[in-house]
Amino acid sequence: MSDCLFCAIARGDIPGDIVHSDKQSVAFRDIAPVAPVHVLVIPREHYANAADLARQDPALAAHLLTVAASVAEQEAVSADGYRIVTNTGDRAGQSVRHVHLHVLGGRDLAWPPG
Ligand code: 5GP
Ligand code: ZN
Repeated sequence: MSDCLFCAIARGDIPGDIVHSDKQSVAFRDIAPVAPVHVLVIPREHYANAADLARQDPALAAHLLTVAASVAEQEAVSADGYRIVTNTGDRAGQSVRHVHLHVLGGRDLAWPPG
């Protein structure tokens, strides 16, 4: 998608603080972190949300979860615990309509979230 922010970051047209990159996915630090570790994991290919991705390419959906786990290990939050979040639609506050996994860690994370 030509006008999609995260497609532009995946292409390298817009800079991102990239912590992982492979043929199918990119992971980069959130510009407005809400935890000491706040990384976004995205597929290079554009899908609007997690349901679209899982239905159209389940192997890629699984790959993103594996990358999220690797990022958590790389960022040294895996042992203490971390959270993977993906928002879908307006009421969940999805502001970028390119599926992304938030990987959050480095502090106690309240549950349930507000
Ligand atoms: P959502 O609200 O859609 O679940 O999450 C979108 C996330 O993207 C937000 O946490 C927001 O801070 C982050 N974000 C928005 N624009 C940019 C950007 O240009 N660069 C980076 N690295 N993160 C962004
Ligand atoms: Zn996109």
